[in-house]
Amino acid sequence: MPRTGVFVCHCGSNIAGKVDVETVAAKALNFDRVVFSTTYKYMCSQPGQEVIKKAVRDNNLDRIVVAACTPNLHGKTFQRCIKTVGLSPYLSEMASIREHCSWVHTDPDEATGKAIELVRLATAKVRKNVALLPLNIPVTRRALVIGGGIAGIQSALDIAAAGFEAVIVEKEPSVGGRMAQLDKTFPTLDCSACILAPRMVEVATNEKVIIHSYSKIEKITGSVGSFEVQIKKKARYVDLGKCTGCGTCTEKCPVKVDSEFNLRLSTRKAISTPFPQAVPNVPVIDPHHCRYLTLGKCGVCQKVCQAGAVNYEDKDEIIIEKVGAIIAATGYDLFDPKKYGEYGGGRYRDVITGLQFERLINASGPTGGEITRLSDGKTPKTIVFIQCVGSRDEQKGKPYCSKICCMYTAKQTILAKEHIPDVQCYVFYIDIRAGGKNYEEFVKRAQTDYGAVYIRGRVSKLYEQEGQIMVKGMDTLLGEEVEIPADLVVLATAIVPRREARTLAQKIGLSYDQHAFYNEAHPKMAPVENLTLGIYLAGACQAPKDIPDSVAMASAAAAKICGLFSRDFLSIDPIVASVAETCCVGCNTCVAICPFKAISMEIRKDRTGQERQVATVNTSLCQGCGTCLPNCRSRCISLNNWTTDQLYAEVMTI
Ligand code: FAD
Ligand code: SF4
Ligand code: SF4
Repeated sequence: MPRTGVFVCHCGSNIAGKVDVETVAAKALNFDRVVFSTTYKYMCSQPGQEVIKKAVRDNNLDRIVVAACTPNLHGKTFQRCIKTVGLSPYLSEMASIREHCSWVHTDPDEATGKAIELVRLATAKVRKNVALLPLNIPVTRRALVIGGGIAGIQSALDIAAAGFEAVIVEKEPSVGGRMAQLDKTFPTLDCSACILAPRMVEVATNEKVIIHSYSKIEKITGSVGSFEVQIKKKARYVDLGKCTGCGTCTEKCPVKVDSEFNLRLSTRKAISTPFPQAVPNVPVIDPHHCRYLTLGKCGVCQKVCQAGAVNYEDKDEIIIEKVGAIIAATGYDLFDPKKYGEYGGGRYRDVITGLQFERLINASGPTGGEITRLSDGKTPKTIVFIQCVGSRDEQKGKPYCSKICCMYTAKQTILAKEHIPDVQCYVFYIDIRAGGKNYEEFVKRAQTDYGAVYIRGRVSKLYEQEGQIMVKGMDTLLGEEVEIPADLVVLATAIVPRREARTLAQKIGLSYDQHAFYNEAHPKMAPVENLTLGIYLAGACQAPKDIPDSVAMASAAAAKICGLFSRDFLSIDPIVASVAETCCVGCNTCVAICPFKAISMEIRKDRTGQERQVATVNTSLCQGCGTCLPNCRSRCISLNNWTTDQLYAEVMTI
């Protein structure tokens, strides 16, 4: 006969301030099979856990219910606790009497009454819990890193430093990401390329790192420990092994198109390398603009290439890689400011984005580092920066703060002053958010040492007048309308997820938020894990982030993976679904509904030798969410320790 112990936590005054914990503990003694109950101030603390262990030993308990805070936070704590006294971790349950009772009820009697009922349900369920054994699965000790920006590069280098292989898949012809487009970086103002390029070379020459550039993920199957990744390597039309990077082909190519890397501020050739420090430093032919590939004419690059590297017959290639864990490091895109009609909606040439400003100010950028107006090439004497374009705007943009714009705008005012000593910079802002080491001081420097004038308020309108952009807005501190004639206007546009973030997430089973930023498993306790086991997050794909935060997150994700790779077998939670094959009618409903793609159809032979489809659960993919259970019309799916019998036991005890 089960012997259950009930442990009611005060959680300081968090629970005990509203719930009468002593009454809950006393009532619990009346519940079926409950032989012990007590309360403690902080049940999760070391002394609290000792109370549980002692009670298990002294009362010969074989099941426990802890009535405390959320099971998400402390379920594992109490499982580990009873394991040390020889009980199966799966013979424990939690009743959530903080989030579900003390925090949501104002009336103490109602809170206490509900707490008693939740404990009653938990004791009914735990009676029927089974001492499950963890599932052991083998681990392939190689990692996939999706995205070769600074976050992806850092993760790959850290994994390689621990002695494991890392495979980077980068969609662009070169690794480097957005950082390669930046000029100098806040708060130290060191040159972005100077700190990035050595990392790019290091990752390219590291024998433990494989880079598939100009490639994308087609499909990922499998689960933590053993994923199989299908990668499409796009045709470059230039042989990576033969090309010497001499650049003759680019020089001679007659076709010019807008440069994506320079954000359409300059042109590139149909055969080109995105930027001088590109890794690999080998050009690609753009098949949509190459005359030979579109019209069958030209062929100049092949003729001039001394290395014989140009190959018009090149084809896309599919590569298969096997890995045990994945890091998503796909970074960010920028909000399209055309949605703001009041800022010109893209009509004015001298209204540019912050990232375009980075290219303009960069020595290897389209103007060789000269800040010039796009309309007439003149040096601007007045520059107006507008912050929060698309950020913190629920109507037209995004509700969130993009976190880095206050800092990069301050940086850009400093750099503008260094380039043009007599320039006057104005910054329209809502609030200054400069949380970070030396960040506040940096913004102050922009104002005091570099004379940037900060105006608190929104800009209501931009319009052209006599060759200038008139910036009309409200100074909310002075309560006055202001109008500034600007030579150049720079918009700090919101950070948004990559355009293809959703598609990639759906392909690999990553969960994401309403904006398509990837979700961490827990915002505080598991910030680099995704809910899908074996998938980790690094950099700005999770939320807007600057370089130090992206690098820190990348190293954290790599450390998690190295921990995973340090074992031969991985133990995973056995709370997974299973299908009773004999009653499965193969309707496919569960396959379609499982958010983790854990169910597939397999062919089985029945007793008469006839083949039929039945659903099978991949236990290493299943997260035990239970979505499939109510959707199975044959009722042939069950979830370990969440069986229909247990749910009935809970209902019937009320
Ligand atoms: P990214 O740099 O975006 O890299 C992601 C990589 O993943 C890219 O190479 C991309 O091509 C690749 N990728 C995307 N999707 C896929 C896919 N599906 N498959 C394969 N590959 C994919 N930060 C600072 O600390 N200091 C500064 O001074 C600073 N200035 C800035 C100025 C501006 C105007 C802006 C907009 C940002 C600035 N930042 C600055 C922020 C900085 O750019 C980011 O912190 C950093 O780039 C984040 O790195 P990441 O690797 O996460 O993302
Ligand atoms: Fe490479 Fe040939 Fe072009 Fe030189 S000419 S960069 S070797 S493809
Ligand atoms: Fe998929 Fe959830 Fe069912 Fe597991 S329990 S198979 S994760 S739907």
